[in-house]
Amino acid sequence: MPFYLAPSRTVPGQAHRCTAYGCTCKGFERYGRCAHQRAVQLAEAREHEELGLASDAGIDCAFAGVAADHEAPAEAERHQRSAATFERLFPANDFD
Ligand SMILES: [Zn+2]
Repeated sequence: MPFYLAPSRTVPGQAHRCTAYGCTCKGFERYGRCAHQRAVQLAEAREHEELGLASDAGIDCAFAGVAADHEAPAEAERHQRSAATFERLFPANDFD
């Protein structure tokens, strides 16, 4: 995975290795996120947009749609079974 070098603001001559997922700075170590990581995320998002690539959010939405489509037939069958059970337990003639 490619990484970026971000110059340290507090230690002259030192740099942090940073990706969209992590960084070697103390801020990331302490808080699990940092300005370097955020800068890489923004730069990569802009680069992906310029290249016409899908964003992480777009990919998540596409996967959610695929999962929903995959689960729809099973959900429909559950509804059908439930309705059939209801019909068996409470036949329409009982209420006439
Ligand atoms: Zn950092």
